Amino acid sequence: METKTRHTIEFDTYPDIAALPAADAALLRQARTATRDAYAPYSRFRVGAAALLENGEVLTGTNQENASYPVGICAERTVLSVASGLHPNVPVLAIAVSYDNELAPSVAPIAPCGICRQTLMEYQARYQRPIRLILAGLSGQVIVVTDSADLMPLSFSANSMK
Ligand SMILES: [Zn+2]
Repeated sequence: METKTRHTIEFDTYPDIAALPAADAALLRQARTATRDAYAPYSRFRVGAAALLENGEVLTGTNQENASYPVGICAERTVLSVASGLHPNVPVLAIAVSYDNELAPSVAPIAPCGICRQTLMEYQARYQRPIRLILAGLSGQVIVVTDSADLMPLSFSANSMK
């Protein structure tokens, strides 16, 4: 007889940036600004991510595309690499992600892709701290996820190799 397991997640939804806690709003504004720096000549889907570090510093990253499409890297992994490269021992507490789709309105939240979710899990395990996500377009609804691990149930991790 099998045992069924159901995984549910909770996240908070806000009607717009004005309803957010101040720190989340500040980080989201920086993510929105960062979309201007994206290198997205192929998709024209410009993603910006802003990471708040435990030392109070905010770093930004953007998607970096390539003519060889699979070579491209997402904004979330760019900013995590920047943070880890500059401050390898400082935990990342929160990441805001926004986007500017040149081909359609950017008014609904986007969520990290599967590879980025796996990467977020690694950094959470590394720093033993949950990473808060603030997700939104250039306007409109905002989703806040308090623990990135909620987005990656039944995941592969270092524990899987023990
Ligand atoms: Zn991604």
